[in-house]
Amino acid sequence: MKSFRSTLALFKQYQTFAISTHVNPDGDAIGSELALYLFLEKLGKTVRIFNTDPVPEKYQFLPYWENIENAEAASDFCSDVLIILDASSRERIGNFLRKRLLPMHAVVNIDHHTTAKAFGDYNIIEPAASSTAEIIYKFIRSTDIAIDEAGAVCLYTGMMFDTGCFRFSNATPETHRIAAELIEIGKFAPDEVYRQVFEQVPLSKMHLLGQTLRTLELTPDGKIGWVRVTQAMLNDTDTTLDDVEGFVNQVQAIDGVDVAICVCELADGNTKVSLRSAGNVDVAALAAEFDGGGHERASGCRIELPITTAIKRLVTSAQLHIDENG
Ligand code: 5GP
Ligand code: MN
Repeated sequence: MKSFRSTLALFKQYQTFAISTHVNPDGDAIGSELALYLFLEKLGKTVRIFNTDPVPEKYQFLPYWENIENAEAASDFCSDVLIILDASSRERIGNFLRKRLLPMHAVVNIDHHTTAKAFGDYNIIEPAASSTAEIIYKFIRSTDIAIDEAGAVCLYTGMMFDTGCFRFSNATPETHRIAAELIEIGKFAPDEVYRQVFEQVPLSKMHLLGQTLRTLELTPDGKIGWVRVTQAMLNDTDTTLDDVEGFVNQVQAIDGVDVAICVCELADGNTKVSLRSAGNVDVAALAAEFDGGGHERASGCRIELPITTAIKRLVTSAQLHIDENG
């Protein structure tokens, strides 16, 4: 682990920086990238952000989001330092960027996943933090550079997203205090950020949710619940994998469900999995059995099997975890 102080010294020492994050970036990934980008610019650095996947429309209200570049743009850029945010492994930034983003001096890894690997030369891993944005907040606060309005809304959005709007168990009293401070600094309306991130649901997504909930199955004791999304359902409702975000939470909301599972059939026939836990089962450990990862209560993985087989394996594993925990 590196301290904030030595990481700041590294940032001051070098001039050019590349920032990246995991594939299918979420609010925490994008908010953290933009806040750190603004911070490094204030230090007078040359900074570029490269992501494998585009910025989802709901985050296109964040200041400077247009400065986030696609992976191909990284071809002509070699930085002194590469900073990878919110990605529990280096592979999570996507294959092309993993091979292309090779810094001259150091890789900095900032993350809050319990399954985070220390793949960087500098690793700041804080599984107790609600979000990567919360770590970035603390880092910037440890310096003499102030967080401005733009930085505040980016950090708030990251924290808000990863805590499910401050509902999940990762939202500590400190998270709430930081959020309050960011609202004061940023002068934005929290309800508008909430609407932007959680409530601009396209009608097509609602149709997909309707179809998905009809696939709900539960174990006889009701402790494991799962839904499935097929390619046919995506085609039928004119939606994409991105639209499946959040569906697993609907399963977790069912009274008595300990482990909620959402499986999604990928175009190549394999399966993308989202897992949620009510608290009795560590779903990061469950996902790790399938080479995935995440947090104790929210995790995911990809399984190279068709959805029906994947579901069987997942439910069997989840059952073992439940049995172990009495
Ligand atoms: P979600 O279900 O919302 O896609 O992801 C929940 C959590 O699990 C996130 O923190 C995410 O980083 C992690 N996660 C999701 N999919 C994967 C995966 O394929 N590999 C790893 N290591 N983590 C994942
Ligand atoms: Mn995160």
